[in-house]
Amino acid sequence: MPLHRKILIGFAAGAAAGLTLHGLFPTAPEGLTLFLDYAAEPLGRLFLRLLLMAVLPLVVSSLILGVAEMGDAAKLGRVALKTLGFTLLITGISVLTGLVAVNVFRPGDGFPTEVREAMLKTGKLPAMPAGDGVNFAQRLLALVPDNPVKAAATGDFLGVMFFSMLFGLGLIRVEKEKAKPLLRLLESVNEASMAFIHLVMRMAPLGVGALVLNLTARFGFGLLRQLLGYALVVVGALAFHQFVTYSFFVRTLGGLSPRLFFKRIQEAMLTAFGTSSSSATLPVSMRVGEETLGLPREISRFVLTVGASANQNGTALYEGVTALFLAQCFGVALTLPQQGTVLLLAILGGVGTAGVPGGSLPMLMAILASVGVPPEGVLLILGVDRFLDMCRTVLNVSGDLLIAVLVSRSEGEALHPVAPTD
Ligand code: ASP
Repeated sequence: MPLHRKILIGFAAGAAAGLTLHGLFPTAPEGLTLFLDYAAEPLGRLFLRLLLMAVLPLVVSSLILGVAEMGDAAKLGRVALKTLGFTLLITGISVLTGLVAVNVFRPGDGFPTEVREAMLKTGKLPAMPAGDGVNFAQRLLALVPDNPVKAAATGDFLGVMFFSMLFGLGLIRVEKEKAKPLLRLLESVNEASMAFIHLVMRMAPLGVGALVLNLTARFGFGLLRQLLGYALVVVGALAFHQFVTYSFFVRTLGGLSPRLFFKRIQEAMLTAFGTSSSSATLPVSMRVGEETLGLPREISRFVLTVGASANQNGTALYEGVTALFLAQCFGVALTLPQQGTVLLLAILGGVGTAGVPGGSLPMLMAILASVGVPPEGVLLILGVDRFLDMCRTVLNVSGDLLIAVLVSRSEGEALHPVAPTD
């Protein structure tokens, strides 16, 4: 049985078991809490951590190799520019889709004030974005790490990427003979990381199932009900972007049938949904990109690694919708220029958000503050955030694969799938 089907079964079984448990024991007796705390949650987290563990060697080796393999700097510049162009264009469309939806359906209008106040009191606020009060130039400067090891140790993947890309550029300029040993070493690191991922993915059905069981058994559908209108707008807009906009680009510029595209990337989409983390899914999307979609290696390595951090359509859409929804809840009327600010910030948010569960919350709070909505408002949506996180991460990951297809095609490359799945 193919892996993606097993993951799907794991997911469905986890959700069914979790919802049943929640239905039977809505107040979560001690036995259930113990089971969740000591079995389901650690098992799910183990899977997540194992995937994340492989990310650092994979990102460093893939990017350096990707850049070095692209060889001449002209091709690299072209691929990088195209990646950036597609990212901004498609992210822009995603935020616009969300903003139109939230303006049409207005799920935040008439949100009961008592419920709002009660919800504001119950939660704990996530940490505000670090380095607040730092100006834009300093923020940009912070992308360049002064110490790559520190960047790696603190999980600053953008910094690690920046270092790896420049290091790869340096390597291009080194004499072929001298560059070879390092390239071979990195090749081994890369292969070993991929082989490691293959192993870890064997526990994906179990890991994804455990993650989903843990969430549904704890929260059920209860929280969703209160925020149903908002959640529906987010999920509807995400679905539209995924199945209409992505399909359009896949068909017109990618020359691939959308059905085939989504079928081939299923494994990556399911892992994204289960883990809520683009970074953790990166190893899987790289395998899917190279093997199942048959993308040229140097392009897919480059686009997917950069995209995992910098191309987050789902996150950008979600940030736009949520900012406007909370403005509606708090009765703050946003003018068109203010909505324009939300649009721009959400696009930047998609670029600058860390690909980890809940990575967008700090950015969301910054967006809220900049248009005059109380940042505490995020407390209102925290309850449904995990579910929406799962959904938006699917778009973040499939968006990276989409751009990898588009860039490959525009470079005149044919796709050579290795493992036929259709
Ligand atoms: N969980 C998302 C991701 O990893 C980021 C976010 O929107 O919170 O792509």
